[in-house]
Amino acid sequence: MDQNLINTVNRLQVGPNANPIDLPQITVVGSQSSGKSSVLENIVGRDFLPRGSGIVTRRPLVLQLINRRPTKPTEVNGSAKEGEDKGEQTNETNDEEWGEFLHVPGKKYYDFNEIRQEIVNETDLKTGKNSGISAVPINLRIYSPHVLTLTLVDLPGLTKVPVGDQPKDIEKQIKEMVLKFISKPNAIILAVTAANQDLANSDGLKLAREIDPEGNRTVGVLTKIDLMDEGTDVLDILSGKVIPLRFGYVPVINRGQKDVTSNKSIKAALEFEKDFFEKHPSYRSKAQYCGTPYLAKRLNGILMNHIKTALPDIKTKIENTLKKYQNELINLGPAELGSPSNIVLSTITEFCNEYRSILDGKGQDLSSNELSGGARISFVFHEIFYNGVKALDPFDQIKDVDIRTILYNSSGQTPALFVGTAPFEFLVKKQIHRFEDPCLRCVSLAYDELVRILNQILSKPQFNRYPNLKDKISNVFISFLRKAQEPTNKLVSDIVAMEESYINTAHPDLLKGQQAMAIVSERLQLSKPVQLDPKTGKPLPNQQSASQQSTPTTSTISTKSDDVFGGFFSNFFASKNKKRLAAMEPPPSVLRASGQMTERETMETEVIKLLIQSYFSIVQRTIADLVPKSITLNLINYSKEEIQRELLEQLYRQDGLDELVKENDFTVQRRKECQKMVEALKKASEIVTSV
Ligand code: GDP
Ligand code: MG
Repeated sequence: MDQNLINTVNRLQVGPNANPIDLPQITVVGSQSSGKSSVLENIVGRDFLPRGSGIVTRRPLVLQLINRRPTKPTEVNGSAKEGEDKGEQTNETNDEEWGEFLHVPGKKYYDFNEIRQEIVNETDLKTGKNSGISAVPINLRIYSPHVLTLTLVDLPGLTKVPVGDQPKDIEKQIKEMVLKFISKPNAIILAVTAANQDLANSDGLKLAREIDPEGNRTVGVLTKIDLMDEGTDVLDILSGKVIPLRFGYVPVINRGQKDVTSNKSIKAALEFEKDFFEKHPSYRSKAQYCGTPYLAKRLNGILMNHIKTALPDIKTKIENTLKKYQNELINLGPAELGSPSNIVLSTITEFCNEYRSILDGKGQDLSSNELSGGARISFVFHEIFYNGVKALDPFDQIKDVDIRTILYNSSGQTPALFVGTAPFEFLVKKQIHRFEDPCLRCVSLAYDELVRILNQILSKPQFNRYPNLKDKISNVFISFLRKAQEPTNKLVSDIVAMEESYINTAHPDLLKGQQAMAIVSERLQLSKPVQLDPKTGKPLPNQQSASQQSTPTTSTISTKSDDVFGGFFSNFFASKNKKRLAAMEPPPSVLRASGQMTERETMETEVIKLLIQSYFSIVQRTIADLVPKSITLNLINYSKEEIQRELLEQLYRQDGLDELVKENDFTVQRRKECQKMVEALKKASEIVTSV
């Protein structure tokens, strides 16, 4: 029963997707060349680990021993051979042993020398040949009827001085790697110390104590007993008088370098070990507690205890993992497909419902970290577009000098006496056209958001199941949106064109000409330096009306002589060369205002500017209001209402329905894996519950 439990628990680790459950593992820790690899090899009973002096083990090796019960010949050969003589076949083929590497899937290594070679190659691959180390483990499974079911981890030995290409901090690096493995709470630590070395100097024990000070999961292993000076032994250590360990120490003898070179078999080595302990005067009386077989038994017992205490935890873990896989299975959908037309129909419906609810802000995965769906579109409208429109300033382009020129031009041959609507309209129209760009940009931003929603929906797992259908939905949706974008662009362009086509000077919100004049004159007056009463030294009361004011800011007062001789254009040009005036030269080919403005010009310019500003902001408000509505009408609501019809039209009537609903390979594969895992976990759960 107990072995059965470990077997089952181990079988879970053998699942296709690594380990759903963190199981106890036996790790070795000790100085370099203390005999760690040799101990592991003896436990396995086979020759396959690179061993020797120097740093041989340079990557962690996760070694799973899996006890394979010898199969009966009938099981091996199947029912066809049932009638034949079975006697001779019993010892054949059925006690095969082999290894499998995780990085070489599917290959069985029957030759253990080949396994060793593969470990060496794989080590060099990751670390280079010159003594470098790597924390990336090599995973090896050994299937054999002769091993107990255990997971062992061989680790590089603790070393102090860097050699070869090793980095300066090799000691720290190895220590950290070892710590990573032995500090897992489920690690059983095999602290290996060579017996011909002082136990107090044991790096392995030191590190094990750091991690497991109570010694709850540490077993001491003393190697190289055979190399001890005659007359010395480890009895003191074994009896716990030197450094006590809860689980005690096991003395072992591995093959020495000479045995390795001469290819001494493990069997012979184990016999030698047994003999040694049984005959040695110090160990004779407790020989059954010495040697590799005892160590293996002891480890198995410890492992068993460990599993038993961890059982409640393992149980919940199994249950949780089971639930996880069952849920995934549900999400992957049932293996039996409905009819293709039903699948297409329901997928389209699901897509459209999802699309609508995301736009309406009723999506299932409402996030609190970021805006999504409809809220993002709202951001485009109310932040990006609104600010873009607000940022347009008509006076980026209209300069005072232009206004002045237009004022003169619009008066034509007859000098004007008041501000006319013509120059105002001319200037405003030109500015309104500038709204077209931000409007079209707003359409394109809204379009992008809709595509974003599309991708958001299609990234959900249920849509991954049928990649062809997913692609098709995406294509149809995008070309549908492109088509809808045209009338939307047209509509917003038309809104701008409408504004341009008719300047509504009777708009109730537009500043009246008189109001504008009053505001301007007040402003001009305020900016005039304050005049002081020469008698009192106090500011003079401002009694003059705006029209009587004579000192505008932007221009100086025209002199009387200018008024007399200058005529209508007297202030239009800066230089007034009297000689030229007298000569009555024809006007230059380009006539532009350059002189200082008269009070009246300033006034008119400022009034026009004020009116432009007032009208421009009316248009700004109208456009900021209408464009989002147009986009909503022609793009968003339109897609919301029409996409389902479009998808059905494009997809449902298609002949290739079967092709559309071809399941993704991953889904098929994953479903199989999940089913296997669910089965394995259910079995495990049953066994764990019955313990
Ligand atoms: P690791 O670095 O800790 O993995 O040590 P190895 O297992 O590679 O062994 C280092 C060297 O010590 C090898 O040459 C082994 O043959 C030798 N060795 C290990 N254990 C024993 C032992 O119990 N007795 C003898 N005589 N030699 C051993
Ligand atoms: Mg080693």
